[in-house]
Amino acid sequence: MAVEKKYDVVVAGSGPGGIGAAFAAARAGAKTLIIEKNAVLGGQMTSGLVTGFHGMRVHKGFTKKGLGSILMEDKHTPVVARGLSLEIMNRLTMEGAAYSTIDDPPMRIEYDPEALIPLLFKMADGFKLDVLVDSFVFGVEMDGDRIASLRVANKSGEVRIKAKTFVDGTADGDLIDWSGAGFLMGDPKTKRCMPLSVYQVLGNVDLQKTMDYFKENPDDLHISTIERWQEMYDKGAPVSLIGLKSLVNKAARNGEYPRAIGLEAEIPYPIFDIQTSFLPRGTVKLLVDMAYGVDITDGDALSAAEKDMRMNQVPGIFRFMKKYVPGFEKCYIISTSPLIGTRESRRLDGIYQITKDDVLSNRKFEDSIGRCGRAMNVHSSGGGNQNQDRGGQQWIEAENPIGFDIPYRSLLPRKIKNLAASGRCISVDRDALGSIRGEATCMVAGEAAGAAAALAAGKNISMQDVPVPELQGELTKHNVII
Ligand SMILES: Cc1cc2nc3c(=O)[nH]c(=O)nc-3n(C[C@H](O)[C@H](O)[C@H](O)COP(=O)(O)OP(=O)(O)OC[C@H]3O[C@@H](n4cnc5c(N)ncnc54)[C@H](O)[C@@H]3O)c2cc1C
Repeated sequence: MAVEKKYDVVVAGSGPGGIGAAFAAARAGAKTLIIEKNAVLGGQMTSGLVTGFHGMRVHKGFTKKGLGSILMEDKHTPVVARGLSLEIMNRLTMEGAAYSTIDDPPMRIEYDPEALIPLLFKMADGFKLDVLVDSFVFGVEMDGDRIASLRVANKSGEVRIKAKTFVDGTADGDLIDWSGAGFLMGDPKTKRCMPLSVYQVLGNVDLQKTMDYFKENPDDLHISTIERWQEMYDKGAPVSLIGLKSLVNKAARNGEYPRAIGLEAEIPYPIFDIQTSFLPRGTVKLLVDMAYGVDITDGDALSAAEKDMRMNQVPGIFRFMKKYVPGFEKCYIISTSPLIGTRESRRLDGIYQITKDDVLSNRKFEDSIGRCGRAMNVHSSGGGNQNQDRGGQQWIEAENPIGFDIPYRSLLPRKIKNLAASGRCISVDRDALGSIRGEATCMVAGEAAGAAAALAAGKNISMQDVPVPELQGELTKHNVII
């Protein structure tokens, strides 16, 4: 017999999208629950070790090789996201756990995920938000065009959770799919999705030696200049060295680089990013694309990719680092991200779909609930056939980027009346996904979805009938930029 619980608002998933939604709904006074399958809140921000918070400022300067911005210091463009994003980043900064300045964030904020874990639980308590971790949402029960309850599995067995409104913060649009709200996925022609990664934290690294390699081989560095990164490194600021194409190619030709799942090119051009982030000297995080075109909403395909990445890719790339990359000869693996890094899966087929053109034209919308300033970052879903000098990823930005509005309609399904999307599964085309999937924007969308879910629950109306001016008023009261 399933245990039953009842709420005003229930949020499934606790990445930046889910956290934004749950905090905003609870802050508005709604009885709110957040459900997460991992042990901690935060999604990619904690369990995925994706610790570079993008999108609080407009991105500018990404498209010219060699002139790429030093994100972690850039402050020359407008701030587009405040609200909960700023509150969380300010609190981390105050604790000495983020490379930022209070109320004046750079384009990308590097932070310590171990400081974020307790902070999110603490904030949940402060907002009187109920938290259910180690709990997997596996289905929905419908009552016509409304979700009646979520089916959750945890150590109690099956738990059935009822609510007036629901927010899908699973990143993969699980509720969107199961409720029949309608979704799109992957490349419109091939249906393939962007690559998967597992972060590795490596210790005992002599990064100065690696920087000296880049000085002698400047073509092997793909973003900015090594002189600028050296300047950052010397003052203890985070660096992100993206490149190593020639060494990866050499190793692949020698049969000493693991072949990624779904790789279409003969020779791999993965994104290869050595990040110091918020780690102590001698320790780095490694971001490498490891599997292409996998449908992670297929349980068998996801499981096979996890197995290959952890059994073949991580150890193979580790061996490559030790043998081929100066400075890594004596390195060892400290840890790997428990949550697989997924950039793309289901996207809501909502009332309005944000498009590439909206991003390129800095589009304004009357029903704006927040703003995004991130350039479009789309990774090759086959590996190596797209803008190869940037490691199979593209950065596309408007000619004069000032950011674009996120319309409330892009969070809303057409027919399901008590569901909103948040995070990276809102309604966008594939290029615009490259913008909105930045963590700050996921939180902006979440904050609006949660505030709207609380309003709808309080008034007993559908999500589509929420008065937009009232929603905008509630958000601006909490420092959100509309
Ligand atoms: C390798 C990689 C590098 C990236 N680099 C950056 C970067 O530098 N800067 C940046 O800003 N962004 C970056 N991103 C993008 C960013 O991390 C994501 O787009 C963002 O975290 C998505 O937020 P979300 O809230 O939608 O989902 P997620 O952060 O993915 O969180 C979803 C949460 O829902 C939970 N969940 C899912 N399904 C269920 C279920 N059925 N039941 C219960 N819980 C469930 C998951 O466990 C997870 O905790 C990167 C992403 C990847 C993968």
